[in-house]
Amino acid sequence: METTATTNTEPDWPAQLRAHALRVTRPRTNVLRVVQEHPHASADEVHRQVRAALPEISVQSVYVVLADLDRHGLIRRIDVPASPARYETRTGDNHHHAQCVRCHRIVDVDCVVGSAPCLTPGDAAGMTILSADVLFRVVCADCRENGPDSGIPHR
Ligand SMILES: [Zn+2]
Ligand SMILES: [Zn+2]
Ligand SMILES: [Zn+2]
Repeated sequence: METTATTNTEPDWPAQLRAHALRVTRPRTNVLRVVQEHPHASADEVHRQVRAALPEISVQSVYVVLADLDRHGLIRRIDVPASPARYETRTGDNHHHAQCVRCHRIVDVDCVVGSAPCLTPGDAAGMTILSADVLFRVVCADCRENGPDSGIPHR
C-alpha cells in the first residue's frame, strides 16, 4: 500500500506499525510524523499539527493514538511535573531531559549509562529498581542571556 511520500531521514512508519502488529492508519502515521518533527510536543500540540493533514481528527483520538503508540514502544511519553505529558520518537536509549525553569523548554540529555536503571539508591531495601526518571531543572542559555532578573520561580 502506498502512503505519502517520505523523506530520506524519516523512518518508514507504516513498516514500523506493521512490525508491532498495528494497523496502518492515517491518524497513526500522521501522529508519528508530527512527534518525529516536534520532539517533546504535548498532546495538544500534536493535535494542532495533525489537524493540518486530518482536519476532522479530535484531540481525544490523538490521545488514544498516542497511548497506543506509547504502549508499543513506538513513542516515549515523558511526564513533566506541573505540565502536560510530552511525547517523542527517540525511544530505547534511556536518555534524560532538562527543563528550563523559565521558558519550560525541554531538551534531551544523553544518559551516560544508556540503559535503565542508570541510578540506584544507596539502600534499595530489597526493591528491584526498574528505572530512574531524571529531570534536570535548568536555566537555558537563551534565558540566561536575558539576564538574572527574569526570576526563577519559587516552588
Ligand atoms: Zn529557557
Ligand atoms: Zn527526549
Ligand atoms: Zn542516565
